[in-house]
Amino acid sequence: MARKTYKERCLVLRKTKLGEADSIITLLARDGRQIRAVAKGVRKPASRFGARLELCSVVDVLLYPGRSLDVISEVRCVSTNDACRTGLEKAGAAEVICEFLEKLTRDGAATGDRVFALTEVAFAAIGRGTELQAGMFAAAHLLKAMAMQGLRPAIHECALCGAPLDKVGFFDISMGGALCADCAGEAASSPVDVAIVPWIDLMLRSTFDELSRVEQAPVRKLLDVGESWMREHLSLNLKSIPFLKSLY
Ligand SMILES: [Zn+2]
Repeated sequence: MARKTYKERCLVLRKTKLGEADSIITLLARDGRQIRAVAKGVRKPASRFGARLELCSVVDVLLYPGRSLDVISEVRCVSTNDACRTGLEKAGAAEVICEFLEKLTRDGAATGDRVFALTEVAFAAIGRGTELQAGMFAAAHLLKAMAMQGLRPAIHECALCGAPLDKVGFFDISMGGALCADCAGEAASSPVDVAIVPWIDLMLRSTFDELSRVEQAPVRKLLDVGESWMREHLSLNLKSIPFLKSLY
């Protein structure tokens, strides 16, 4: 039975050139699934919807099944998020989030609807915030999205034995976070300076609105933690992270 035309609200994660005038658009659907679809003629100046399919935009798209990929036939812009494409820091932060989501969902893994909502809020925060905050918002998004996938670092208890911790003395990426003194002696292999731990905690438990009041976060170190965490626990490497880190 032929599949029918369908409608999806999506975030635009990536645009790839296809042939003379077409693009393949990588989208994140609201349920956290990745959709790759062809947008025909979008690179022609007179394209009906080329400008609406920019990175970070939230769009309602109408799709119909094509031979291998589905084809986009209509686009309605819900939110352009164009402030996320202005300036190196903001564009760099948005690019990190897009690349992360694109790779996270590449093999058909769905992230669930909370990641879509989280990302909408993150893009809004990047748009409204300062250049200095943009990198922090990207780091917060990575840590929160991974926590939503069940990869939340242990902070208030030992990641190995579960003993409650008043103060974190050891933090190890590969072991899953904070460690008590006993476990740290045996296990630590990728230790992190514990000064960053309260910042990781702040990123995880604060809303983006609350984070908007934070002016001077250690952005580069937070991005280091996000990068190491996804490398260790998701085997993901992002091409866009070194550039963003170089700005802080
Ligand atoms: Zn322990």
